[in-house]
Amino acid sequence: MLQDIAPHQFHNEYTPRSPKNDDIVMTFHHNQPLFYMAHETPALPTFAQMKNLIPTTCEKLIYLFEIDQIGFFMVPTVKAMEEDDNISFKNNQVTDFSFGSMREFRHFKPVWMGFAGVSAGQLYRWYRSNRFCGVCGHPMELHDTERAMHCPVCGYVDYPKICPAIIVGIIDPATDRIMLTKYANRTFTRYALIAGFTEFGETLEDTVHREVMEEVGLKVKNIRYYKNQPWAFSESLLVGFFAELDGDSSITLDTNELAVGEWKKREEIPDDEENSLSLTYTMMKAFKDGEV
Ligand SMILES: [Zn+2]
Repeated sequence: MLQDIAPHQFHNEYTPRSPKNDDIVMTFHHNQPLFYMAHETPALPTFAQMKNLIPTTCEKLIYLFEIDQIGFFMVPTVKAMEEDDNISFKNNQVTDFSFGSMREFRHFKPVWMGFAGVSAGQLYRWYRSNRFCGVCGHPMELHDTERAMHCPVCGYVDYPKICPAIIVGIIDPATDRIMLTKYANRTFTRYALIAGFTEFGETLEDTVHREVMEEVGLKVKNIRYYKNQPWAFSESLLVGFFAELDGDSSITLDTNELAVGEWKKREEIPDDEENSLSLTYTMMKAFKDGEV
C-alpha cells in the first residue's frame, strides 16, 4: 500500500532543522503541488533547485517531516513567495517547473516520494486553513516544539486533524460473492468498496452498519477488522473491515452516492494495477485470491 515504503523510514516527529541541498521543498497552489519537470517523469523540487529561484522564501520554509535523511519542507504561501522573491510559478512562467494534480501521487515514482508528496499535501491544507485563530481571530503562529499552530493572544492550539473512515467488503457466504461499487459523479470511476467517514458519536462498527444500509440497503453481521491505511488525500485514516451479508441480498442503491452496486464472484474482480496502492484494492485482491 502507499504507506508501505520499506526499507525507507518515515520520521513524522516534529524536529525542525535547516534545509540541506538534497532536501525537498514543496510548494502548493490551490492544492496543486509544484513539480520539477526537466526529466521524463515529474519530480519534487530540491532545496538546491529552489534556493536559486526563491532565496528569500527559502529562509522561511516550514519543516514537515523526514524520510530516511531527506527532509521535506514547505513554502508557507505562494503569495508570500511572489511578494518576497517577485517570482510566480503559475502558468508555467518558470522553465522546468509546473503545478500538477495531487492525483499524480497515486502512481508516482518512486512510491515513497509519492507517499511523501501526499502527506505533505495534508499538512499544507492544514497550515493553510489555520492561519487565523478559530477562537479569537488573531493570526496564528508556529508552535516551537510541536507540529501545531498556536494563538499568542488566547492560547488556542490546533493540531492536524485526522478523520477516521471505514471501508467494508460485504461478502455473501451463500453465493461466495462480494459487493463492488462505483461512485457516482466522481473522477474516480474504478470499482470500489462501500466506504464512508465516521460521524460524530459513532463507533467504527456503527459506521459500517450505517454506510452499508445507506449506500446499498443491506444488513451485515460478523464484522471483522482487516487492515488500515493513512490516506492523506482526504485527511483520513481508512479502517478496512470484511462483513457477512445478514439476510436479503437485493440491493437498494443510493444513486446520489453510487452509480453501480454489484455482487461479484472472486474470478470476476478486475485487476487494477493503477489502484494497487490503495486499501480498497488490497481488500478486493485479498478476496479475489481467496485470502479472506
Ligand atoms: Zn486566539
